[in-house]
Amino acid sequence: MFRLDGKVAFITGASYGIGYAIAKGMAGAGAKIVFNDINAELVEKGLASYKADGIDAKGYVCDVTDEDAVNKTVAQIEKEVGVIDILVNNAGIIKRIPMCEMSAEDFRKVIDVDLNAPFIVSKAVIPSMIKKGHGKIINICSMMSELGRETVSAYAAAKGGLKMLTRNICSEYGEYNIQCNGIGPGYIATPQTAPLREKQPDGSRHPFDTFICSKTPAGRWLEADELAGPAVFLASDASNAVNGHILYVDGGILAYI
Ligand code: NDP
Repeated sequence: MFRLDGKVAFITGASYGIGYAIAKGMAGAGAKIVFNDINAELVEKGLASYKADGIDAKGYVCDVTDEDAVNKTVAQIEKEVGVIDILVNNAGIIKRIPMCEMSAEDFRKVIDVDLNAPFIVSKAVIPSMIKKGHGKIINICSMMSELGRETVSAYAAAKGGLKMLTRNICSEYGEYNIQCNGIGPGYIATPQTAPLREKQPDGSRHPFDTFICSKTPAGRWLEADELAGPAVFLASDASNAVNGHILYVDGGILAYI
């Protein structure tokens, strides 16, 4: 019941990082992998990684905030690979700036990629899912869907909004056998969080690194590969009765913080 044989899985922003790890997990469960990224260089880098891992993935250059480009890409995927059975809205950005120092433009940019884009991409794939009689949408949320912290006002607002978009898609399209769930990663060691692990000029650990490890019951940063199992579960028939749920994969930090 955890197999994804023959299913077309479209993972956004999946040249590396969490999206790549999820795609690798889904390929291992039998899915055909399709991904996009924002520029050709990243897509080429992604394709080389998939090839090295023995995965026959197809990559597209597409900015997920551009509705016309998304619609064209989804149409191209449907023509070249097939109707998308599984969508993972993974592409995301973060800007760590204290709220009163943040420009409205920066705030909007984060909302655009982290909240508006999942709306745009979901809207592009849902009609074909309805026709096909099933679909799985997985929105990569965050523990910031539940919490606020200094410097991440836009990100927390976007990821909190994404949690509610997830519930709304579930309510609106559940009757068409579409399950929309979220994954809320805790602190994952990816390039996005690399600045938070950098050593201080005196060689000591970054204070945030120490904070995270002390606040996470797991006592460590999580690895991107640890998100693959939960994503495969939410993409598979094993989770057909799970809808509108956010699965926090955070090493227990939300239970403890
Ligand atoms: P990365 O920044 O490493 O990867 C995200 C990918 O999305 C990158 O390839 C990025 O390109 C791409 N991207 C950015 N903007 C766009 C766009 N407009 N159109 C298409 N692609 C775009 O992120 P992670 O792997 O760390 O995170 C993946 C998801 O998980 C994100 O949604 C993030 O918010 C979420 N998350 C991450 C956590 C962590 O600890 N790392 C914790 C909680 C949630 P580029 O490299 O050019 O930016």
